[in-house]
Amino acid sequence: MFDRVYNFSAGPSVMPEEALLRAQKEMLNYGNSGMSVMEMSHRSPVFAEIFESTRQKLREILSVPDTHEILFLQGGATLQFAAIPMNLSRGETADYAVTGNFANKAAKEAEKYCRVHLAASTVPAHDRIPAQAELDLSPEASYFYYCANNTIYGTEWHYVPETASPLVCDMSSDILSRPVDVSRYGLIYAGAQKNMAPAGLTVVIVKKDLAGQELPVTPLVMSYQEMIKAGSMLNTPPCWCIYMLGLTLDWLQSVGGVVGMEQIKKERARKVYEMLDNSTFYKPHAQRDSRSDMNVTFRTESAELDAAFVREAAQHGLCNLKGHKIAGGMRASLYNAMPMEGVDALVSFMKEFERNHV
Ligand SMILES: *Cc1c(COP(=O)(O)O)cnc(C)c1O
Repeated sequence: MFDRVYNFSAGPSVMPEEALLRAQKEMLNYGNSGMSVMEMSHRSPVFAEIFESTRQKLREILSVPDTHEILFLQGGATLQFAAIPMNLSRGETADYAVTGNFANKAAKEAEKYCRVHLAASTVPAHDRIPAQAELDLSPEASYFYYCANNTIYGTEWHYVPETASPLVCDMSSDILSRPVDVSRYGLIYAGAQKNMAPAGLTVVIVKKDLAGQELPVTPLVMSYQEMIKAGSMLNTPPCWCIYMLGLTLDWLQSVGGVVGMEQIKKERARKVYEMLDNSTFYKPHAQRDSRSDMNVTFRTESAELDAAFVREAAQHGLCNLKGHKIAGGMRASLYNAMPMEGVDALVSFMKEFERNHV
């Protein structure tokens, strides 16, 4: 049996071992409070310090300007599919680029609250990202929505779209993996369970002057304005997840912040794609210029061989390599906390599996 495996899960996913060990050490008695962070009042001074320092660390690491507020919310990325049109569309038109499953779900949800204009679509293959010139932008759009990294299909926007309307971006699967010019965005959001913390926390970074125009039916906990006013504490926030985010950010700082992480992620992805490109046995899903550094999707010539790959990989301590059911094949999620040793072990296994099955 293995002690710790290499976990390639698309989410919830691998966390930095340093963060887990610190959580273990501080589990029963956080900072001489005599209790676990799980047991604390969210209004207590000791938790207020955790909350504030975590928010501040995130602001520094992502260089979030003062024009933008950082919110710690719940409901996952999926609740934002509704919160975004409720808060930002004024019931009018919004542009959506549908380049994968989650962007598609977001567009479908938005149709309940506003007019959705399809600015781009890569249905059904979702194996590429449209170029700027392909975007069909509507002049009256209240915002432009896209998903920076398509977790299921393994494609990634390698440029920031130029639009007249505010950019709204789902960064659930690539946040903190590279520097981002936050000032270019109206809103950035991410479910925490891929790159930041355990499931249960959603980080929303919203330009303050876009808040306050929500539809009257917007529930209180979904109103950016109300949450800004209440400092994300309109109700009990996901305290444990916020604490774990703080530990992850300390670890991220120690590996060079988002600049250091970008170098590491490029190196991780380079190793796996190089292996795929040198093989005729494996077929990558994404077109070369649209490849994701975070989720590498590929397959063999048959579903049976794919299943054998996933099974044998697990026997080697390389877990959760099965692709999403709607995409099939394999998917290696190389999130921020994936150690380089895990990537090297994956590449060696891929070579060995190929030798044994050609
Ligand atoms: C995982 C994921 C989601 C869904 O997140 P939930 O927190 O489960 O709602 C949305 N968008 C992207 C890009 C994702 O990777």
